[in-house]
Amino acid sequence: MANNLDIEHLPVEGVHILNDDNYRDYRHNAHVALQCENCGKKKGDDGVAELKRCAGCYKVAFCSRECQKTLWPTHKADCKTMQEGRFIAELVQNFYSNPLLLRMLRAAIVLRLGLQNSAAPVPQTSIPFIVVHLHIVPLSEADKEKLVHKQLDAAGKERIPGYLEVGINNETPDYIPIARTPAEERQLGLNYALYKQARRHADEHGREGNPIVFVAFGHGSSSMLSAIEITPDAFEIARGNYSSLSPLLQQLIPDVAGANPVGVRTLLAVANTFIQLDLNDELRLRRDMTQADKTFVRDTGRMVAFGEKPPAGRYSRSA
Ligand SMILES: [Zn+2]
Ligand SMILES: [Zn+2]
Repeated sequence: MANNLDIEHLPVEGVHILNDDNYRDYRHNAHVALQCENCGKKKGDDGVAELKRCAGCYKVAFCSRECQKTLWPTHKADCKTMQEGRFIAELVQNFYSNPLLLRMLRAAIVLRLGLQNSAAPVPQTSIPFIVVHLHIVPLSEADKEKLVHKQLDAAGKERIPGYLEVGINNETPDYIPIARTPAEERQLGLNYALYKQARRHADEHGREGNPIVFVAFGHGSSSMLSAIEITPDAFEIARGNYSSLSPLLQQLIPDVAGANPVGVRTLLAVANTFIQLDLNDELRLRRDMTQADKTFVRDTGRMVAFGEKPPAGRYSRSA
């Protein structure tokens, strides 16, 4: 397989990620001020000149060293989960910054939602909610073998280099209602603020017909929410017109699809193969595997190799 990847990193139009700005805007609009996670004091309250964010997760703030120390035994677990969230956020941003990968994901979403046969854009009456599973899988076959056939290192410390793999949840997507009143809007909370931002951006740029879809990327026990516009080229790809794709992706589709019609799994397999081919990590989608990734590879590997069932309810994943 050719190795000359067509990699561009661009700020991609129509992608909105739930980040600190959203939290700040939401807090501002909802009149909820940042406050100490332990005692609840706000900036300007007696003796509080400034609130300092936790250096581990950046998501919570404290008024003093004392409050931080007091809450640490409770905050520790949350902090770790939120740090994992930042790890994912970085991978997702790198994934989204590549227009080719984004196009494959958008096209897979069109197929997942069954929108490929829509004749004309219709006003959205609800917001589809798609769950995308992320895993770091081993780069080498030898590491994969080792994970499936041998014991995992108990402490999870052994470094196993891997690359990102994405898959869309098999279950029927959820649909979030579009708020009609400020009260309904408040009830839907920060997620809705993200939707509004995406909708406003699309409309202001003359893309009123592009549907907005929530995409939640899940890894282990963390997840990261984004709202993306589904663009006309994604509909075209979902209908089987690949002319907007790079020659490499056009070549990968028949390679991956074989004799079968192109579906969600094929499009994601093409994206995953594209990531796998990135030997110099120009996409920045390589990492050492976490314990959660190692467990996933072992469980799914054993399921395939020995017909073992994965632990109930842990994974529901299509690709
Ligand atoms: Zn405090
Ligand atoms: Zn923290």
